[in-house]
Amino acid sequence: QDFDVKAILKSLSIEGEFLPASTGKKWFGEKKDKIVSYSPVDGMEIGHVFQASEEDYEAVIAEAESAFKKWRLVPAPKRGEIIRQIGLKLREHKDALGKLVSYEMGKSLQEGLGEVQEMIDIADFAVGLSRQLYGLTMHSERESHRMYEQYHPLGIVGIISAFNFPVAVWSWNSFLAWVCGDVCVWKPSEKTPLSAVACQKLVQEVFAENNLPEGLSCLIQGDYKIGELISNDKRIPLVSATGSTRMGKKVGAAVGARLGKSLLELGGNNAMIVSQDANLDIALLSAVFGAVGTAGQRCTSTRRLIVHESIAETVKEKISQAYAQLKIGTPLDADNHVGPLIDLQAVDAYNKAIEQAKQEGAKVIVEGGVLEGEGFESGCYVKPAVYEVKNSYEIVQSETFAPILYVMTYSDIEEAVDMQNDVPQGLSSTIVTNNLMESELFLSHAGSDCGIANVNIGTSGAEIGGAFGGEKETGGGRESGSDAWKIYMRRQTNTINFGKTLPLAQGIKFDF
Ligand code: NAD
Repeated sequence: QDFDVKAILKSLSIEGEFLPASTGKKWFGEKKDKIVSYSPVDGMEIGHVFQASEEDYEAVIAEAESAFKKWRLVPAPKRGEIIRQIGLKLREHKDALGKLVSYEMGKSLQEGLGEVQEMIDIADFAVGLSRQLYGLTMHSERESHRMYEQYHPLGIVGIISAFNFPVAVWSWNSFLAWVCGDVCVWKPSEKTPLSAVACQKLVQEVFAENNLPEGLSCLIQGDYKIGELISNDKRIPLVSATGSTRMGKKVGAAVGARLGKSLLELGGNNAMIVSQDANLDIALLSAVFGAVGTAGQRCTSTRRLIVHESIAETVKEKISQAYAQLKIGTPLDADNHVGPLIDLQAVDAYNKAIEQAKQEGAKVIVEGGVLEGEGFESGCYVKPAVYEVKNSYEIVQSETFAPILYVMTYSDIEEAVDMQNDVPQGLSSTIVTNNLMESELFLSHAGSDCGIANVNIGTSGAEIGGAFGGEKETGGGRESGSDAWKIYMRRQTNTINFGKTLPLAQGIKFDF
């Protein structure tokens, strides 16, 4: 077998036991509750770390605070040079890290490698950004005065991440935060602790080679309790949290209560409108990839297909034919299209969603089910399923993190846009049409209410150059490209008087 887990772990320096917390090279904390990482690919134990305690947490924050005092003084382009070296390190270890991500999370090897490529891309982006942290200058209304704004480092950035992008989401946040002069404390998902250890080891090598303080990158392993400590901690001015809407509401409330800043990247309920003027080949390929890719465990996975009534029968037939050809099995085999769900809890949620959809009146287009037998021993492999529903069903209104696609029909484009918008979430959306009026309406003020709105491509996947995120219950946060960096800094407006008198603003006179 050319997939040798031990060799992969070794090449990423993941050997032995990992304590709950790490500040750079140092690992510390107490060995208490184990967090075991099982691969959903074959159900095997890959390794384990330990759950951090409050004392471990305090030690990490102290290191981060002291590192920030040094790092904020390093000129931004020099900070960018460090991220350039991290990009090189990732290129060197792309293969091993991509394989570990694939094995620990269960996404295809291609997607695991793709996730590391995304880290490399955001590193390149951050290097360029390090010379472009621009503020504006303004004309003062007062004589002999100058006004401008500048962006200063913020402090400690808390990063809480989800299992489905175990490494990329951290890099989107930390690489930009580092360039901005911040330090990071990362609490990865308890379902993917080893991918996080691998990242920490790689960046720590670069920091050590450059004599930089360890606390620049802190890793703290644990469940939601560590997430709560981060959310309630006044020493952390920004908390970037990626995960379910349920989690985001708690984090948002806790950070809001102390008037901190939060960047929330939460669940989606992404739809594709398929117009009567659609190129059906594009619609079909992007809908099927969007619905079954990563076994439906992307925040941007296609969950709803809103099809014009005149082509509904054709689309249903084509979808059924395409699904019949899908190969389900180990994601380490490039021939397979669909891998496992993350764990048995996720399989349970998939089963319950199908049951509820049927109770609410869903009609089967492609039936689901859990797979058993050889190759499916982990119990995490399920059949991608398609049901005909109404948008108003309760189950259709919520996100189930599994390959379930809901199909519904519409008669005019305004109705389709209303259906697309009529869910609590607002992450990604798309229309497949060759009709200019329809696509422009979809992108207009009266169109899609999502953070991402596409034409003639799928809902899933995004390039790092754009700001990524969504509206409504998706949380409103934006990260990655465009000007998403601004949230990692504090903005300061400066007014300088270079004259010999003191004119007041708004023409106010104050003489004595
Ligand atoms: P989850 O909400 O169960 O966990 C995410 C992280 O939050 C984990 O690290 C977890 O330990 C932590 N957490 C849980 N409860 C917490 C609390 N009360 N306080 C602080 N931290 C807490 O999500 P998951 O199952 O790992 O990931 C799947 C979800 O993530 C889906 O809803 C998906 O749409 C979403 N997601 C969104 C984006 C995006 O960019 N919008 C990207 C990836 C995943």
